[in-house]
Amino acid sequence: MENNECIFCKILNGEIPSSKIYEDENVIAFLDLFPVNKGHSLVVPKAHYENILDTPPEVLEKIVVAVKKVAQAVLKATESNGFNLGVNNGEVAGQVVPHVHFHIMPRFKNDGRSLWKGRNYDEGEMDQFAKKIRNSF
Ligand code: AMP
Ligand code: ZN
Repeated sequence: MENNECIFCKILNGEIPSSKIYEDENVIAFLDLFPVNKGHSLVVPKAHYENILDTPPEVLEKIVVAVKKVAQAVLKATESNGFNLGVNNGEVAGQVVPHVHFHIMPRFKNDGRSLWKGRNYDEGEMDQFAKKIRNSF
């Protein structure tokens, strides 16, 4: 399953170059061109799925197992003690490349790469949200 327009499919078939760091039967991993921190890597399934919601569970399992492997190597190589794992799903969430991929972003003390600040619920609103979500399965 390949998408002719997809930049990650082009990386997968060798049409455009990448700094590949890992490959197995199901995924490849390469360095992100614009890293949050140096060593920021992307784990990408070889089959083209747009986002997590349309990726079959058995493929997701393979991706996550590879993510763990790649993260261990990234941390070792960059001498980092922790990383953020990110998956943007959908344009509204900042997904630019519509081929599902997991970001492994190594972090360093005082690197200034802080994540979002939390916001507050109004009185009673948290219960409403929890109920609505429970009823959405
Ligand atoms: P997302 O916003 O989750 O879709 O992220 C796409 C990521 O792919 C961004 O962090 C880009 O920097 C990265 N990216 C785009 N093109 C390339 C490329 N040719 N090689 C490596 N990383 C890329
Ligand atoms: Zn693709």
